[in-house]
Amino acid sequence: MDVLGTRAELRSSAAALRSAGANIGLVATMGSLHAGHLSLVEAANRNGDSVVVSIFVNPLQFASGTDLEAYPRDLGSDLSTCEAAGAAAVFTPTAEEMYPEGEPGVVVVPASLGKHYEGASRPGHLEGVATVVTKLLNLVGTCRSYFGEKDYQQLMVVRRLVADLDVDAAIVACPTVREPDGLALSSRNALLGAKQRAAATALYRALEAGRGAIEAGEREAWAVESEMSHVLDIESRLVPIYAGVADPARLMPIDEIAGPVRLLVAAEVGPVRLIDNLGVDAAPDLDR
Ligand code: AMP
Repeated sequence: MDVLGTRAELRSSAAALRSAGANIGLVATMGSLHAGHLSLVEAANRNGDSVVVSIFVNPLQFASGTDLEAYPRDLGSDLSTCEAAGAAAVFTPTAEEMYPEGEPGVVVVPASLGKHYEGASRPGHLEGVATVVTKLLNLVGTCRSYFGEKDYQQLMVVRRLVADLDVDAAIVACPTVREPDGLALSSRNALLGAKQRAAATALYRALEAGRGAIEAGEREAWAVESEMSHVLDIESRLVPIYAGVADPARLMPIDEIAGPVRLLVAAEVGPVRLIDNLGVDAAPDLDR
């Protein structure tokens, strides 16, 4: 497994893999790898790709220096994990390598897809993600790139940036990997104390309450949102940020539920910001 520190090394390593006949599968991560990340590597392995994992805690997508500093890092163990998973290469640049001029003069800004949810509650976050993903895809060149549904809005932004900006990559969506109690795996879970860890399950419980309401016939989005908010509100260790019912492609809030929707929640548990989401398909109810 090659460990690459510079953009030039990534470009030439990707070109060499391709000229040897490989299809590249890029898995972009911020490290502290867990089974959720590994599921993306495994999906790429199943497709027969030569896997390139990037590990970069991207300062551009963090609002506060404190959050950036607190983000868990464990490069030694990540490299062994990637090696064991059969990755061909790992790209681990420094911030100076990725942004040699410091603050970039041009960034990729999601339009309507970045208006709500993460876009509204974390100003600059989706721009930071879209910018670093564009850079990584440009460096790697023709590839498949694997993203988790765990970060659903990010996934949709990446899909659209590839389509709208004619980037030569096929985006593959992978399902969210969860703990047995429903908590979505996240590198940030390592920062939770035992009581906070228990409280964090409220995110998935809220999504299940929303799904239950829709499956029981509720078609007003506000009513489903208040079911989800209630589950978050009664958990005293958690500060809700949003609980929404969105059009799954446009990531816009909807009023009436008449087909597939995406339920999205975010909350703070102590110092840790957690997000989760769930797709629900409400078949149109012709009797109503
Ligand atoms: P991150 O390191 O958090 O930036 O995540 C890197 C990639 O792994 C993104 O495409 C995430 O959506 C994906 N990912 C993170 N957690 C999970 C999970 N629990 N299940 C599936 N994919 C995940």
